[in-house]
Amino acid sequence: MLLFLNDYASALTRQLLYRSKETSLQDKAQLVTSSFSGVDTLTPENTAQVISVLGDLNVTRVLIVDGEGCALYDSLTQRSAVGKFVLLREVAEAMAGQNVFYSRYADGLLTSYAAVPIYLYDSPIGCVYISDVDEDLGEIIQSLERNIARISLGMELLMVLCSLAFALASSRKMHKILASMDLAREGEYNHKIQMHGTDEYGRLAGEFNKLTDRLQASEQAQRQFVSDASHELKTPLASIKLLSDSILQNDMDAETMREFVADIGSEADRLTRMAQKLLALTKAESVKEGEQKEADHEVVDLSRVIGQVFKMLIPLADQREISLRCTMEKDCTVLSMEDDMYQIIFNLVENAVKYNKDGGLVHVRLGHQDDEITVEVEDTGVGIPEDAAAHVFERFYRVDKARSRQAGGSGLGLSIVHDLVKRNFGEITLRHRPEGGTIFTVTFPYFDVEVEE
Ligand code: ADP
Repeated sequence: MLLFLNDYASALTRQLLYRSKETSLQDKAQLVTSSFSGVDTLTPENTAQVISVLGDLNVTRVLIVDGEGCALYDSLTQRSAVGKFVLLREVAEAMAGQNVFYSRYADGLLTSYAAVPIYLYDSPIGCVYISDVDEDLGEIIQSLERNIARISLGMELLMVLCSLAFALASSRKMHKILASMDLAREGEYNHKIQMHGTDEYGRLAGEFNKLTDRLQASEQAQRQFVSDASHELKTPLASIKLLSDSILQNDMDAETMREFVADIGSEADRLTRMAQKLLALTKAESVKEGEQKEADHEVVDLSRVIGQVFKMLIPLADQREISLRCTMEKDCTVLSMEDDMYQIIFNLVENAVKYNKDGGLVHVRLGHQDDEITVEVEDTGVGIPEDAAAHVFERFYRVDKARSRQAGGSGLGLSIVHDLVKRNFGEITLRHRPEGGTIFTVTFPYFDVEVEE
């Protein structure tokens, strides 16, 4: 590329100098020819007269040739061509009516030639031939070419240096990124790549840092989950151990022993429920990560699901004289998995019963607005304090630990609901009921069976 630029610059410079030389030589030749205007034939006499009038033209050689090609005047005194036929190509071309000019540069000398016909009316009666060897212009060309060569060499060197510096910087950055990847592979997610700039490496480093942040957060969440789960499992296990120790150590009557064994049974039930919920949560999470398959979706009529949930929970509600009421609009279908919908509505209604007052009410409303299906679960229970509302969807979170435990809760029900709702493209919110109690609202996209079929 640089070589090409170098050649191009040299050629351009030469062309410019040739052009200026051509103009100057042509002007001089024209001056001579115009001095012959009105002359019928060229003779040694009128030629000598014209030359004496013009004086020194400041060129290397001036030849004036007549119509036969014979030299009438030659400014060279040594080896003069006067009286001889001039066998120069430029002269022959000028005699044929052409203005001729060309230049040649070699060894620091610029040699230029010009030949112009002398006309009588429209026919040439002779020609003027001028040649000039210009040492000064030759030197200018020589020094310009030398400078251009130097500049391009400098630029080539600079380019090589820049490429080297760029390659070194790139390889250093790549090395830094690869070293950080090694650390991340070893599990050091808190290591960050310090790399500024908006080039590809900077962006790659930024993406790497985001990725390790996410890995770190997910590892932290996993650790927290394991620690919370073990803590939660420890409590019923400790109760079972305490109760069984008491049975073994104390000499108790049959009635007390039966009570203790029943307590052991209910703690075991709690452990089973918790294990089931942990499994449900893991299932919801694994599907969330792998995205649900479209083929698994089916058209689910939510009014049917609510009916099934009520059937299951009526015995629990009856124990505390809690009424279950339902208001349902027609045509409430969603495209989802029936098990997910059942689990969501079951957990919400079960909570509405569990955290209700004796003799209270649970009201489920199923509605359809435009392209949305809404399920509202309202209870007249203890309510959720405002500061706790933001945390109830977290795993193992309980507003009132004693009450939750007493109600057989694990702190996992709402987090399962939250994951399942998200997985089915829905939204869940809760609000305080002014007269006391809570209202949970879940929305899903409506699926119009008729249109889709
Ligand atoms: P749990 O298994 O303890 O019920 P959840 O995740 O279902 O766990 O609920 C988390 C906490 O939110 C519960 O411990 C309870 O304190 C509170 N909660 C949930 N639903 C209600 C409700 N309808 N009324 C009052 N408190 C509720």
